[in-house]
Amino acid sequence: MEYYNLKDDQEKVNFRKATIKGQGKGKGLFFPETIPQFEEKFIQNLKLYTHEEIAFRCMKDFIGNEIPSEILREIVSETVSFEIPLQKINDRIFVLELFHGPTLAFKDIGARFMSRCLSYFLKDQKKKVSVLVATSGDTGGAVADGFYQLPGINVVILYPKNRVSPVQEKQLTALGGNIRALEVNGSFDDCQNLVKQAFSDEEIQNNIFLTSANSINIARWLPQQIYYLLALKQWQQHEKEAPVISVPSGNFGNICAGLLAHFRGLPADHFIAACNDNDTVPDYLRTQYYISKKAVPTLSNAMDVGDPSNFVRILELFGHQFSRLQDKISGYSINDVKTLETITQVYQKYGYTLEPHSAVAYASMEQYLIDNPGKKGFILGTAHPVKFPDAVEKAIGGKIKIPEALNHLMKKEKKTQEISTDFEELKRFLLHKI
Ligand SMILES: *Cc1c(COP(=O)(O)O)cnc(C)c1O
Repeated sequence: MEYYNLKDDQEKVNFRKATIKGQGKGKGLFFPETIPQFEEKFIQNLKLYTHEEIAFRCMKDFIGNEIPSEILREIVSETVSFEIPLQKINDRIFVLELFHGPTLAFKDIGARFMSRCLSYFLKDQKKKVSVLVATSGDTGGAVADGFYQLPGINVVILYPKNRVSPVQEKQLTALGGNIRALEVNGSFDDCQNLVKQAFSDEEIQNNIFLTSANSINIARWLPQQIYYLLALKQWQQHEKEAPVISVPSGNFGNICAGLLAHFRGLPADHFIAACNDNDTVPDYLRTQYYISKKAVPTLSNAMDVGDPSNFVRILELFGHQFSRLQDKISGYSINDVKTLETITQVYQKYGYTLEPHSAVAYASMEQYLIDNPGKKGFILGTAHPVKFPDAVEKAIGGKIKIPEALNHLMKKEKKTQEISTDFEELKRFLLHKI
């Protein structure tokens, strides 16, 4: 399979190159040249296949022979090595729980797949290989965990001092080994600037093979299709009609993977782009004008994005035809008040605990179902409630139970090194300390 740059379709690369480079010239995103179709027999009989087999079939066409089949099988089986249950909340709404992975967020799936592909592709690299990431919270943890103990790769994570939650900080700093956390005395923007400088520094480039773990990397985007298939496998055991799927959306990578799976033959009645106050896409779907906005902070902070980078991939999938897009996707914008109310109501009525991101998806789904009686569907639960204890405990008026895995993590020691925003300090670290 070849991938072309959405900003310059003359630039074509294979899966390996696209994974290593992350993005194309002019920061363009890569997109598959063809959309491989699922066999109808396969889609109708998902229950006959194991998780691993479903994941393998989902990914194989995108990778071809660039990774031998037996290694790809290992990679996908490690990618989905935890439970992904579809739980019933009420008669019309189910939730796909994507938060039983090591960092309790759906980003584990993309990060685990990408890290293993990179590790395979770079195993014979002569220079030291380092993955450099700046994080404001969730991404760093999933990436750190994904690369933990993978041979031949060091990970350096920059995070802003005192600006990530206690759980997030432990996820970044307690692993140790090949994962190094640098606590930057500055903001998330400072962290990002330091990373950018490192990528353009000649001395670093000459000595280290530096790569990023960017969220637009195809090796993070494509494996997200897998859990839509796993959801459908479970859905088919309850329901006959194709589901409505509501996706809490920030950078739109998650929903875009679902749409890609749909274009390949996965049955889906409709998609809902569930947003918080950052409503660039819901506005676009209403008006046909795409106007990027400055991000505003909300309770569902992993979706505080004013100009979602994956949206261009969605436009490409629909051949830039607005009416087709509007037929398949509805957008909703849910504010923080409504988000908290939703958590409270769902807890009181059904005994189910949502967190802010999945609550946005639930509230959006509820509104859609009011206008579309007779339909049913599922929301994607993208994080465990324990990752957002303040909002959730306020809404349900009680404590949430901490999962065993997290207790263990919270007892571990934080290992981190503090650096200033002076690039020379980071440079010394990269050249001499790893
Ligand atoms: C990243 C994230 C999202 C948004 O996913 P996108 O693919 O960026 O749309 C939603 N919920 C949680 C908990 C996240 O961490």
